[in-house]
Amino acid sequence: MKIHEYQAKTLLRGFGVPVPDGRVVFRGDEARDAALQLDTHVWVVKAQIHAGGRGKGGGVKLARSASEAESLARSILGMQLVTHQTGPEGKEVKRVYIEAGVDIARELYLGMVLDRETSRIVVMMSSEGGMEIEEVAASHPEKILKVFVDPAVGLQPFQARLLGFSLGLSSVGIRSLQHMLLALYEAFVKLDCSLLEINPLVVRTNDELIALDAKMTFDDNALFRHKELQALRDLDEEDPLEIQASKYDLSYIKLDGDIGCLVNGAGLAMATMDIIKQVGKEPANFLDVGGGADEAKVTAALQIILSDNVKGIFINIFGGIMKCDTIAKGVVAAAQKVGIGVPLVVRLEGTNVEEGKRILEQSDLNIITAPTMLEGARRIAEAVAAAQS
Ligand code: ADP
Ligand code: MG
Repeated sequence: MKIHEYQAKTLLRGFGVPVPDGRVVFRGDEARDAALQLDTHVWVVKAQIHAGGRGKGGGVKLARSASEAESLARSILGMQLVTHQTGPEGKEVKRVYIEAGVDIARELYLGMVLDRETSRIVVMMSSEGGMEIEEVAASHPEKILKVFVDPAVGLQPFQARLLGFSLGLSSVGIRSLQHMLLALYEAFVKLDCSLLEINPLVVRTNDELIALDAKMTFDDNALFRHKELQALRDLDEEDPLEIQASKYDLSYIKLDGDIGCLVNGAGLAMATMDIIKQVGKEPANFLDVGGGADEAKVTAALQIILSDNVKGIFINIFGGIMKCDTIAKGVVAAAQKVGIGVPLVVRLEGTNVEEGKRILEQSDLNIITAPTMLEGARRIAEAVAAAQS
């Protein structure tokens, strides 16, 4: 789960991370008062969307007076902000953060993620702050400094100082960085983050550090133990199909192809995607209904697949804990309810498979059955080709 910059800054402030003072507003007429509450003469008005690159896209603007802050907030609110992370259609701005302007001597980059190779949290820093880190990684990988954290002892002060020396910070800067990194690490662990990025991490003219931007992503599997974080979810920023999927506890990832796949189990989902590609087609999604799929779940899954504008659907189920007749009943009921206008191939295997096949065959729906996975993939490819010719 992602959150907005202003929400991340509020959380980080609670861990002792220095961040500028700011106020979020949802309407233009709230902006002037919000600006006047800040002890500053320069304001920065920042669009709040779940995407980076807002500055370049025109979503971060400097104001020299509270009324200028208000007029900027009015123009940014409601705009369709396009950045390299939003896609060409952009994202509508519904919240704006008004923040005290900060004097900037240097802009650094800081990122914390879980490194899967070493199974450790890695702290990455670079002198090339403000830029897209992917570009730095591609053109100047040597400019990205990394320290790996031993989970038994946590991030050590000497590791923070090492980064500070390498970045050429003053003694004041190094002390400030040490304080900042230990606080960020604590936040990362306590809040079950999967990503914490401060870009730019700013060195002020007095050498102290301050977080000017903040991006936090949380591990969805740990959200159950963070009620306070769940409340920060902004559904406006999420893909409606993914919201629908999470309501029914479906694992759904949209892909670029046109064959919708409904599968139980992640391993079978991967294998199904492979086999669709093997027959020369592309999967439209990764959709795992999990172990306990019932009619409601299958219906929701089919609705999600159909709203993806697929050309055909391949249902590939291995009935282990879930029995094939249950899933067959679910498929028939769901197909009747949803109304499927594209070819549908079903391959069932496992417990009660004969009963399952009988239910499919006796339904008056136009369902093509398949004895094996490969045959199922071939049949959906053929059926789609036939439907288009
Ligand atoms: P994004 O990464 O989405 O472009 P940032 O929050 O990083 O958004 O802001 C872009 C740039 O705007 C920063 O690199 C910084 O130069 C400037 N900026 C952002 N917030 C402030 C602030 N409070 N004071 C001064 N400059 C700021
Ligand atoms: Mg940024």
